[in-house]
Amino acid sequence: MNTTDNRPVRVRFAPSPTGPLHIGGVRTALYNYLFARQNGGTMILRIEDTDSQRFVPGAEEYINEALKWLGIEIDEGVREGGAYGPYKQSERRDIYRQYVKQLLDNGKAYIAFDTPAELEKARAEHPNFQYDASTRGMMRNSLTLPKEEVDRLIAEGTPYVVRFLIEPGRDVEVNDLIRGKVVINSSILDDKVLYKSADDLPTYHLANIVDDHLMEVTHVIRGEEWLPSAPLHVLLYEAFGWSDTMPGFVHLPLLLKPDGKGKLSKRDGDRLGFPVFPMEWHDPKSGDISSGYREAGYLPEAVINFLALLGWNPGDDTEIMNMAELIEKFSFSHCSKAGAKFDFEKGKWFNHKYLQELPDEQLAELFIPVLKKHGVNPEAFSKEYITRAVAMVKGRINFVSDLWDQAKFFFIAPESYDPKAVKKRWSAETPELMNKLIGVLEGIEDFSSAASEPIVLGWITDNGLHMGNVMNAFRLTVVGECKGPHMFDITELMGKEETIRRIKAGIENIKPE
Ligand code: GLU
Repeated sequence: MNTTDNRPVRVRFAPSPTGPLHIGGVRTALYNYLFARQNGGTMILRIEDTDSQRFVPGAEEYINEALKWLGIEIDEGVREGGAYGPYKQSERRDIYRQYVKQLLDNGKAYIAFDTPAELEKARAEHPNFQYDASTRGMMRNSLTLPKEEVDRLIAEGTPYVVRFLIEPGRDVEVNDLIRGKVVINSSILDDKVLYKSADDLPTYHLANIVDDHLMEVTHVIRGEEWLPSAPLHVLLYEAFGWSDTMPGFVHLPLLLKPDGKGKLSKRDGDRLGFPVFPMEWHDPKSGDISSGYREAGYLPEAVINFLALLGWNPGDDTEIMNMAELIEKFSFSHCSKAGAKFDFEKGKWFNHKYLQELPDEQLAELFIPVLKKHGVNPEAFSKEYITRAVAMVKGRINFVSDLWDQAKFFFIAPESYDPKAVKKRWSAETPELMNKLIGVLEGIEDFSSAASEPIVLGWITDNGLHMGNVMNAFRLTVVGECKGPHMFDITELMGKEETIRRIKAGIENIKPE
């Protein structure tokens, strides 16, 4: 898709480095990326760091690393470079100054000297005060003060701001590609501050519009929280005379709490036990650590698939889609206006599905650090052993770390036995039975599942023994509890010697109540 004027698609993800990238920000980046790739367009990463008060060290690096982990590729940006740089707003001061001047020269903006105390006073004296056509005439600005005084104040270095002169009573149209035409009357808007002399930097609004224009952005895809700013942005495009190349606006639905109304917050994650950040974040000030999807054991592909479906659907009930399929199927017409509930359980389900798709060898590689963490030396086992163990239990896991609970018995003999299972399956006669079983197993040459199973089961039936009692007691000694994969698959992998050693240890150590 091209714009109506056939310009090549250029989109930007424009985070402010004020903290870790929230999972909602990741979704915004993803939708930008899908749209760019689908249209053979360009994906820009622009760092919007004009609010020096809220700058957080490490945030920009975090954004880069998170996007990289997730496979969201940037074509133009601070690190990638590009013909429209610099891509960091704090490095574009000279550019903004020029455009602020243009608005002032054309009478589209004015200078205001009101101090914080004066603004406070106006707010106290006038209920619902806002700086606009109805109030600007009583404030201290270049519209009310004589020119000589304005010049003098500036020459003396008095701090000032530049405000956008909003003409009241106009219907402003925002064409949103999800929401349709949104009309807002300009009378409700205030004369937004566009520039602050104190730090010689523009505010978000001015920098954002100037950069979108200069970077030839064709589609502004961002969160719903920016919808209220859009009419102002339309007016700014107009004031600069750029209406012909106004981007298409796309305001994505909010991410909602899993269990109710309202915006998803970090607190919901803490309360319900799920991350709201792509990667772990170490707050440089407080030292607090917030959990991340990466460290929680999610595969990036699963996170991408999960996020893609929070606010968009492919038009049918397909759920599992890789990046290439998402790029192919994505469309604004299937984005919802209504907020998307953050169904965390669904996130786990996606991870489960993607883990099943991984080759067993790869899953085994991912399991190695988990083994080490639990004090198991992976070198003591062959790659094949670890791979086969993992393959047997992977159907039961949502995370790589779950492999430990499911497969630990392959690597360490039981140190204790599930008391409930003992109570149910271990009686005074069991040791005798297990000794007989050892005798049977010792006689088996081919210890494969296929060969050993009929021999053991045949022995049980031929001797009129209770199938459940024998097999569960057998499992209890080998696994430590009465669950797990098929018994003879376990013993095939473990081998005869280890199997018999464990039965003997069970006879020794399991004490019925
Ligand atoms: N810097 C804004 C943010 O942090 C960008 C909003 C936009 O995309 O226009 O989300």
